Amino acid sequence: MTSKAQASPQQAAVSSDGTTDYRPLRSSAYDMKKPHITELPMTWKNWYQHLDWLSIYFIIVVPILGLVAATRTPLRLYTAIFAVVYYVMCGSGITAGYHRLWAHSCYKATIPLKIYLAAAGAGAAQGSIRWWSRGHRAHHRYTDTSKDPYSVEKGFWYSHMGWMVMKQNPKRIGRSDISDLNEDPVVVWQHKHYIKSVLTMALIVPTLVCGLGWDDWFGGFVYAGILRTAFIQQATFCVNSLAHWLGEQPFDDRNSPRDHVITALVTLGEGYHNFHHEFPSDYRNAIEWWQYDPTKWMIWTWKKLGLAYDLKQFRQNEIEKGRLQQLQKKVDEKRAKLDWGIPISQLPVFSWEEFVAQARSNGQALVAIGGVIHDIAPFIKEHPGGKALILSAIGKDATAIFNGGVYQHSNAAHNLLSTMRVGIVHGGGEVEIWKKTRAEKGAETA
Ligand SMILES: [Zn+2]
Ligand SMILES: [Zn+2]
Repeated sequence: MTSKAQASPQQAAVSSDGTTDYRPLRSSAYDMKKPHITELPMTWKNWYQHLDWLSIYFIIVVPILGLVAATRTPLRLYTAIFAVVYYVMCGSGITAGYHRLWAHSCYKATIPLKIYLAAAGAGAAQGSIRWWSRGHRAHHRYTDTSKDPYSVEKGFWYSHMGWMVMKQNPKRIGRSDISDLNEDPVVVWQHKHYIKSVLTMALIVPTLVCGLGWDDWFGGFVYAGILRTAFIQQATFCVNSLAHWLGEQPFDDRNSPRDHVITALVTLGEGYHNFHHEFPSDYRNAIEWWQYDPTKWMIWTWKKLGLAYDLKQFRQNEIEKGRLQQLQKKVDEKRAKLDWGIPISQLPVFSWEEFVAQARSNGQALVAIGGVIHDIAPFIKEHPGGKALILSAIGKDATAIFNGGVYQHSNAAHNLLSTMRVGIVHGGGEVEIWKKTRAEKGAETA
C-alpha cells in the first residue's frame, strides 16, 4: 500500500525539511510550473476561472437545492431523529477522526475504528482525510500568515467559506508533512475512492436507511442527506472562522485562536481553540470537566471499549504555566497603563541639608519618607487626616509618622504617595544622618 501511495500522481517530491508538495485529487494533471490562475488579476473574462466550481457545487448549490426541496417535503419524526443521530456520527468523523486522530495524532485507533471514522467523515463531505489534514497541519504551522490556507487575517468569510469558493494557489499554501498519512492504508484508500465514499456516505446511506426503515426515501435524501451534510459543513467551517474570531485567549494571544462555548456547542467541542492551538496533540479541546467537549468523551469511551489507545495529554504543569504566563501578561499590560510614580532609580539625589533647605521653596512641600522625598503640596488640602498633621511633617523625615507612628496608612495611601516622588535623600534619611553626625562628633571628642 505504501509503495503504491508513493507512486500515485498525487505525490510530489520530498523537500529538504521532509515535507511534500500536495496535489489536489482532481487535478493530478495540474502543472506546478505554469502560472496559477490566482496569480492573474480577476477580470470580466476570467472571473469564473478564479472560482472553485466543484466546491461551490458541494457547499453552496447542493445545500440551496436541499432547502428548496425541503419546502415541498414533509419532515417525518423518524427521519428527523435519524438526521440528528447521523449528524453527530458524521460530525464526529470529522472532529474525532479527521481532526484529532489524523491531523494531530492525538491518539491511536484500531483498524475497525479507523474505518468507521473514515466512513463517517466522508459523510460530512469535506474532502478526503489526506487533503483535509494536510491543509489543517499547514493552518497550525502557519496560523494567521499568508501560508495558512484559511487564515482569518484574510477576513471572517474568507476563513469560513471563501477559501473553498475561491481557487487557492497550491504553491502559496505552507508545506506540511503528511508522510504518516501516506502510510495509513485507511487514509490512502479513502483518498483514492473519495468521490464514491462521499456519495455513498453523505447521500446513499441516509436515503437507504430512511427509505428501507420507514419508507421515507425522499425525506431521507433531503433531510438526513443534503441538509444534514450542509449543517456539518457549516459547523466545521465555524472552527476556522468563529473559533479564530470570538472568545477568550487564556493561553496565548499572539495569534487569533480563541475559546468560546458557542463555538464548542456548534462544533461538538472544538470551540476551545486557543487551548487547541497551544496543545494541538492533546486529545482534549476542553480540559475542565464542565466544559462541552463530546468529542473528547467519545474518544475516552472508545479507549474504555479497547478501540482507541495511547491518548495524548499535555502535563497539567505545562498547561498551568501557559495559563499563568498569559495572566501575567495581562496583569503587566494593565499595570503599564497606571501611574506608579517615577521609578526610584530615576530620581535625583539630594543631601539631607539640601532637602531641608528646599522643603518650602518654590511652592513645594517636601516630606521625606523611607529615604524618598515627596512633594505633597497639591495633596495638603485633600489629606483625609487633616491639614495640620501633614503640614507638621514638611521638611522632616516622616517615615515613622507615616508608617504607624501616628497612623498606619493604607495600601492606597502608599500607592498615592509614590506618585508624589521627586527625589531621594543621600544616606537614606534623617536618622542615618544623625548616626553619621554622632559618629563624627564621637571621633572629634575621642
Ligand atoms: Zn485554528
Ligand atoms: Zn487542529
